[in-house]
Amino acid sequence: MTLQLALDRTMRLMRDELDASTPDDALLAALIETEVAIVADSSNLASHSAQTAFMTLAMLMARSGHRVHLVAPDILLAAAQPPVPAGLMITGLLAVGRDLLPGITFSSAMPADPVDLVVTLGDTETSLRGRAMISVNADDWTGRLSPPARAIRWRAGRWPLGAMAAAAMAATEAFKIAMRKIVRHARNPAVMMETFAPSTDIEFALAPAGTPMVSALGEFDCVSGGAITQSALFALTRLPEVRGHARVIEPEFADLTNLNRYMLLLRSHFGAQKAKDLEEMCAGTGLAVTPIPERFGPETANSIGLSEVVLVGVDDIPSRWLVQRGWPAWLGVGATTHWSAMASFHVPGTDGCAECLHPDDDPADAPIPTVAFVSFWAGLLTATYFLRHRAGVLGAALPDQQIYATPLRPESPIWAIVPKRPSCPTCASLRSSAQV
Ligand SMILES: [Zn+2]
Repeated sequence: MTLQLALDRTMRLMRDELDASTPDDALLAALIETEVAIVADSSNLASHSAQTAFMTLAMLMARSGHRVHLVAPDILLAAAQPPVPAGLMITGLLAVGRDLLPGITFSSAMPADPVDLVVTLGDTETSLRGRAMISVNADDWTGRLSPPARAIRWRAGRWPLGAMAAAAMAATEAFKIAMRKIVRHARNPAVMMETFAPSTDIEFALAPAGTPMVSALGEFDCVSGGAITQSALFALTRLPEVRGHARVIEPEFADLTNLNRYMLLLRSHFGAQKAKDLEEMCAGTGLAVTPIPERFGPETANSIGLSEVVLVGVDDIPSRWLVQRGWPAWLGVGATTHWSAMASFHVPGTDGCAECLHPDDDPADAPIPTVAFVSFWAGLLTATYFLRHRAGVLGAALPDQQIYATPLRPESPIWAIVPKRPSCPTCASLRSSAQV
């Protein structure tokens, strides 16, 4: 019962593809019977980025209910990896695994039988056999999946962004296997097999190679303490020697249906005030969080008084417009819709604003369908724009001012400028305030 509730949003999204008569039990079974081994040796695990890939991958898969075997030495972590406590990697993951979805835990035992998927880190060798086998690797800003026969030693050093992209891609591969298990229930089996086909040889660049790596984040605000902010903070707390201060503006309390995608939420924190919980989960990293347990709205906007740099991860579209109408010097917006993740940035007086990009309100009265890897991509992409801004390499408007990505098909993200809409009321508000 509680596992079903924890995976409720994930199953709602799976139902996009499935015949309406498909029983919940079939969806749940596909998720929890998908078995994965993550395999790494000590030389491929030596760097902080490699450790980040291993842990991010394990936790993303667990939040979708998969059975994950951790086949790696219990090394001492090089740096903070919230929500896992400092110390030993496997010991910490096993502890956190008991505090994620009810009834789903990590195993440190070798699987006895072939598993659905074996993910190896770098050129780690293994005698384990999986029905699918992939190797993950990364550079500073680029994640990569390749067939094990072409694997090379783990490449990235301390900078963990590309590693997290690699982890997100590999977690998506496990989820695709779960979906292919229930293709007999598909509305359109041919489309489903194409959409959920494996990606075994692919790379994804979050930012251009050579983008400076800056861990000084300064002051910024996060509007919402939900899935996208959680993913962005998950990424930012992993920067080497990170320093910064974020206010998290969020009035709500964590519940069980958040566990499928909130990267810093543990089951034992069920009922916690979300912003205060994020303060606690980021403590011990160089990124301090101050909770503002209020809803950002027309009545509170003035008293809250946003910072010059704001990251928005809120589902409610009018709230994005309201933040934009405060005209922060730099605004990053992350969002998801079904299987797709998007992010954008906005600078006053240049190209399209957040309302130009999201002009239509889309009030949702039912719980929104979501899945771990899509929410994670939205936060990771938003965090990457922020890092490029802090590195001083984001101009006012760039041809890659927004990205729309469907992680099931990582080969085809869409990067584009945000065109200005002539009728945009938010842009008109900037013009009129400039004339005053
Ligand atoms: Zn506009």
